[in-house]
Amino acid sequence: MRDAILSLNTGSSSIKFGVYDVGEAGEPATAARGAIRTDRTPRLVVRSVEGASLVDREVGREDVSDAIDALVNWVEQEFGKRRLIGCGHRIVHGGTVFSDPVLLSPPTVDALEKMAPLAPLHQPRSIAPVHAMAELRPRLRQVGCFDTAFHRTIEPPAGCYALPRAYEERGIRRFGFHGLSYEYIASYLAQEGKADQRTVVAHLGNGASLCAMRHGHSLDTTMGFSALDGLVMGTRCGTIDPGILLYLLQHDGMTPDKLQDLLYQNSGLLGVSGISGDMRDLEQSKDPHAREAVELFVFRAAREIAALASTLGGLDCLVFTAGIGEHSATVRWGICDRLRWLGISIDDAGNQRHDPIVSNPTSSVEVRIIPTDEEIVIARHWLAVIGQF
Ligand code: AMP
Repeated sequence: MRDAILSLNTGSSSIKFGVYDVGEAGEPATAARGAIRTDRTPRLVVRSVEGASLVDREVGREDVSDAIDALVNWVEQEFGKRRLIGCGHRIVHGGTVFSDPVLLSPPTVDALEKMAPLAPLHQPRSIAPVHAMAELRPRLRQVGCFDTAFHRTIEPPAGCYALPRAYEERGIRRFGFHGLSYEYIASYLAQEGKADQRTVVAHLGNGASLCAMRHGHSLDTTMGFSALDGLVMGTRCGTIDPGILLYLLQHDGMTPDKLQDLLYQNSGLLGVSGISGDMRDLEQSKDPHAREAVELFVFRAAREIAALASTLGGLDCLVFTAGIGEHSATVRWGICDRLRWLGISIDDAGNQRHDPIVSNPTSSVEVRIIPTDEEIVIARHWLAVIGQF
């Protein structure tokens, strides 16, 4: 019987997960990876390390507890010879209190729940599986890892808003998100001896952001106080003139709840296209509004990459990751084409093939695709935290 831990990466429409064997001290060994779709009838999909399909079936009702129950049962009873000894979670917001991974004791979970106003949709969603697991396996040690933590190295002025100082003291500041993904990319680049490169990482998924990093530290990022800021996303608006929000509230009959809905759920690619917030749907559509939505996504991503190159004082490396970054040759090409003036030259055939390096040898910026792995970062943190006890 082997000891294993489970990493849960809870998103808006699925829980991505990894199962890791832990034996001797060192790196957790990936045993399986997969996802449970939670937006419609839950479906458990698991792949082996080699990518072979292990499971693909419907599980239970539309309920997080059912999904977690099915996953734990699969690991312990079907996957074989494994005993779960712990579970790690991606938690969206650590606020100003938590910047390192923590053991999820009841008071800590309480404190995290109180941060829901900082990430009203995402924080409750990321804590729900913690409760579900605590009910199912009360003795399992659970660790929370924060999406905001990697950005704690961002210093003024990059971390500040131009509001009166009293607001910053009240916690109104740039936090940044997708930190576990950026931490993975930073560790990958460090392993290759490339941590000193001035690097912008483009995490382009349903949620999308950029991180300017060097020497393994975040120096700037496009998301801020909330996960609404920065790039155009699947259903989120990204950077918007705050005057629009005032206008809608004061003169257009908008309530705060409706405004939240508009900005988080009905804007971005979905709002602009009127068709879908999913990049694959838009790339397949012939509707001009779908094309315009993709063009806006590309335009804003290129503009923000240039802004982060300014933070870094130049650019040596551009990394694409997450669903769109790893799989959409069209989006990558569009962004790089707009950044030719920075010395970027992309190899069209390599880009179509999704090669690990998609820039030409003559390009002054190396353009890479690095599949992200937030789940292994969570597993590493679980081991580090539990090792302290
Ligand atoms: P993520 O949040 O990282 O799972 O990414 C989800 C986004 O990636 C969605 O907008 C998907 O449409 C997009 N995506 C996934 N695969 C592809 C693909 N082959 N081509 C274009 N977009 C894709």
